[in-house]
Amino acid sequence: MRTISIIIPCYNEAENIKLFYEAVREIKLDAIIEFWYIDDGSEDGTLYEIIKLSQEHPEVHYLSFSRNFGKEAALIAGLEYATGDYIAPMDVDLQDPPSLLPIMLDKLDKNSELDCILTKRNSREGEPAIRSFFSKLFYQIESKLSDVSMESGVRDYRLMTRRMVDAILELREYNRFSKGLWSWVGFKSETIGYDNIDRAAGKTSWNFRSLFRYALEGIINFSNVPLEIATLSGIVICLLSGIAMLYIIIRALIWGDSTSGWPSLATIILFMGGLQLFCLGIIGKYIGKIFLETKERPHYIVAKSSEDKVNK
Ligand code: UDP
Ligand code: MG
Repeated sequence: MRTISIIIPCYNEAENIKLFYEAVREIKLDAIIEFWYIDDGSEDGTLYEIIKLSQEHPEVHYLSFSRNFGKEAALIAGLEYATGDYIAPMDVDLQDPPSLLPIMLDKLDKNSELDCILTKRNSREGEPAIRSFFSKLFYQIESKLSDVSMESGVRDYRLMTRRMVDAILELREYNRFSKGLWSWVGFKSETIGYDNIDRAAGKTSWNFRSLFRYALEGIINFSNVPLEIATLSGIVICLLSGIAMLYIIIRALIWGDSTSGWPSLATIILFMGGLQLFCLGIIGKYIGKIFLETKERPHYIVAKSSEDKVNK
């Protein structure tokens, strides 16, 4: 009998731990299920709930991080520890409907060429309009700027074969943008849609600022286009100011020097300064990434886990 490993990143989700387990258990699946709850340094009773659940059910495993490392770190930890033939990352808030699991498994069974079934929200109903707007904008920019394809509305929730997960685990970079990496490894995939579902309990841990940073990560990690824009705008501005300089020199030679014109001069200086800082900022972002990569720090630190020999 094959095994499906479900990876569940949890950050302050005490109320959802048990709900999630029960919801998955209600589903009829032609496979053994292995649960991997990853406690991402929660400050509420999340870990307590997980440990309780794992004591009642041997198929529930867990890792608990020493602090909040972020969902991306929790996902990679889960991928590393999961032993299943199939692996599915799922949100613990039940926004990823477990009822899709049998459908996804069925699709993989029927078509041996497929290695991944993606899920996609048909609409962003129930989400603040401004968030939907910027999300869509991000995916549009991202798909133009980088060569990995990322579709708007596609979730982290997906069913992957062991083959694909092993390929993902080969990517050791520190700066992780899972959606991009999972798309980068390739493999044939199919998408199924579903209607948006509200959180079971608790509230989202994302705000506008964290989403903006997430989007920026996505672009910087998967595209060199911002660097090219910096270079190109530098060249264009240099050419323009070269022409302007010629014009000023010729004008001074013909009509003599005049002190009038300092406003335009000040404007040009300010504009150039701004542009230089902007380009430096972009370059700095990439250097920052290199800096973090060279340290080769671990993605996460496990403080406690169900696999510990002695459970303190
Ligand atoms: N999550 C996490 N670490 C974090 C933030 C979130 O492990 O730092 C988990 C969270 O517990 C949930 C999933 O990631 O299972 C998705 O988070 P959330 O529901 O807040 O995001 P949204 O559905 O609003 O995009
Ligand atoms: Mg959610």
